[in-house]
Amino acid sequence: MTAHDPSLGRSPSGLLGWLGFGPRRSDSTAVADTGEDQINRRENLRLCQLDEVARFLAAHQLEVSAATLTIGWNYLTGADSQLVRAIDRQVQARKQVTLEWLDEELGRNGRADEVAALADLMQRLENSIDEFGKTSRDAHTATSEYHTALEGHVNELEQVTRAGEVISDLANIAKVMLRRTRDIEKQMLRSEAQTRALRRRLDEARRSAEEDHLTGLPNRRAFEAVFEEQFRQARAATEPLCLAFCDIDHFKKINDLHGHDAGDRVLKLVADSLARLSNDHCHVARHGGEEFVVLLRGETLEQARAQLDHLREQLAARRLVNRANDKPFGQVTFSAGVADVFACGDPRTALRAADMALYRAKQDGRNRICEATAEDCLPPQLGAAA
Ligand code: GH3
Ligand code: MG
Ligand code: MG
Repeated sequence: MTAHDPSLGRSPSGLLGWLGFGPRRSDSTAVADTGEDQINRRENLRLCQLDEVARFLAAHQLEVSAATLTIGWNYLTGADSQLVRAIDRQVQARKQVTLEWLDEELGRNGRADEVAALADLMQRLENSIDEFGKTSRDAHTATSEYHTALEGHVNELEQVTRAGEVISDLANIAKVMLRRTRDIEKQMLRSEAQTRALRRRLDEARRSAEEDHLTGLPNRRAFEAVFEEQFRQARAATEPLCLAFCDIDHFKKINDLHGHDAGDRVLKLVADSLARLSNDHCHVARHGGEEFVVLLRGETLEQARAQLDHLREQLAARRLVNRANDKPFGQVTFSAGVADVFACGDPRTALRAADMALYRAKQDGRNRICEATAEDCLPPQLGAAA
């Protein structure tokens, strides 16, 4: 859903102008730039930039503030690709880009950033723990070896104590050192146990950071890593790989009619249905909100579509009831777009293509699965212009 509406979204011609690709001068005027020309061009460019941002704010009736100017800027420059994608989808769906929607969308991205920062922190902590664990294991081994050697020396010294006072003193010092190495060894053992406990806690924290708490499915961050890995493996094994983007139909209505908690239960139920597909070759994750992604390895586009279609039919046939008040939810359905990852070239393009196909499934009446076309796999500008 990234094709744009020129009246509301990014205007290619305006954007090209904004990027400095304005009308070319004729050859007769193609003379070397003077310093003044360059200054004028920069001024013009800046005016174009401001004009584009202002037109964006006006088109969406957004008030002018530092925040909305930044959003307009990031959108029009493409500096924030997630924002571009989100706004393009909103525009395509003929929905307004409101401050409330932006707050919700940016809040979600903000949380994603926090999760990424946490994951980075955990990775560094994990490396430190591994390093410390190795150091304390080495130290433990070295202490233990030293202890054994010292014990041997003490025994030898005791054999010869009769040889004189100096040797006897040496034997006493060695005994003290022996006791100390034993203490150090015990401490090292304790710290090794603590390292193992810390490691377990970290593994738990990592699992929790990669899991969506409501549905128990992997979250978007975890999925991205799985997608990259599966892409690599499937390519090496020349196996097909398909990606589906699923979105619950009219989910907002469920929230509005039955409340957010009931909405959460429906979300969990759809997640559980999709999770039934999960196995070593099929990965299901919550991508965000009421959207899920399914990665199917070893399945052609037709087979992947058929699998999802079967699941869609099963869900649509159910008649769900709100257990809090016995009111029927009515038919709960989802729509999906499915893309052949290798036909698209790379995971990012496949996600975009599946998203475009999902958009068509919604437009065609929902409760259906659409396949991504070759055009969906084209870069955004080419796809929109074709
Ligand atoms: P469409 O068929 O076009 O997808 O319509 P829709 O109503 O499903 O889509 P829309 O994007 O308008 O609304 C999605 C709603 O999903 C809005 C948001 O409040 C709700 N939502 C997102 N995450 C959650 C969640 O975790 N729990 C609940 N209960 N609602 C959520
Ligand atoms: Mg949605
Ligand atoms: Mg929806």
